[in-house]
Amino acid sequence: MDCLFCKLVKGEIPATILYQDEDVIAFEDIAPQAPTHFLVIPKRHITTLNDITESDTNVIGKLTLVAAKVAKEKGIADDGYRVAMNCNEMGGQTVYHIHMHVLGGRNMTWPPG
Ligand code: C5P
Repeated sequence: MDCLFCKLVKGEIPATILYQDEDVIAFEDIAPQAPTHFLVIPKRHITTLNDITESDTNVIGKLTLVAAKVAKEKGIADDGYRVAMNCNEMGGQTVYHIHMHVLGGRNMTWPPG
């Protein structure tokens, strides 16, 4: 499958990796939208949030745990940060392998654009 993030998981494209285990990987976003902006993804390919099934419950929970762990390590946890997952075209999804954005280091606006 020609998926950018599957290639990143396999080490076929470069990334600054912040955390990984057998299920998930966290890495710096290449086009940061905040002073801190990293992504957390499942290693296994899941195309969009719409494709999540009951059997993905653990890995989806792990994305959140890892987001919070890396946010603490990066020193943005106490001030606060934004977690976002974009789904499909109108949700702003451009890479079709689910990913959790974690943004911090500046004030976030609400609602997001
Ligand atoms: O939610 P969306 O699909 O738009 O987000 C994709 C994100 O993946 C973007 O923030 C983009 O900068 C990031 N990206 C990356 N490394 C790549 C390709 C895209 O961090 N090699």
